[in-house]
Amino acid sequence: MVKTSDIFFCQQCGYCCQGETTVSLDENDQKRMIQYLGMKREEVARAFWRQNGKTIQMRTVDGHCIFFDNGCTIHAGKPWRCSQWPLHPSILEAQENFEIIKESCPGINRKLSYDEFCKKFSVLFRIPPKNRG
Ligand code: SF4
Ligand code: SF4
Repeated sequence: MVKTSDIFFCQQCGYCCQGETTVSLDENDQKRMIQYLGMKREEVARAFWRQNGKTIQMRTVDGHCIFFDNGCTIHAGKPWRCSQWPLHPSILEAQENFEIIKESCPGINRKLSYDEFCKKFSVLFRIPPKNRG
């Protein structure tokens, strides 16, 4: 039986939470975060969000997402894009995507070839082979 840890095991390095910007939050992300924090929308927006036009991202502090402190401190309330990382379906479309993501995330199992990785990834996430590039 294939397990997620066969292809990925988070090293808590924080690379994916670094940078001067973060992933953007869709409506569901915003609601989940508000509920998780148990605060009013305005309070969450003031304390944790950065709005650029219609785009809402998380604020950053010292080059990290505001919720990063030796790991994500808002695990159950984090945006879906954070939950998906690094197992992005684009990996199955091109080896180049796999290599780029592997470079950015030390949690990817480096012992697997691209094909081996894709086979396990497809089984785990029940992605039909026809969706592969
Ligand atoms: S870059 Fe990968 S290993 Fe590092 S914290 Fe993010 S998901 Fe985990
Ligand atoms: S919400 Fe959590 S996982 Fe996402 S960037 Fe911030 S600290 Fe990282």
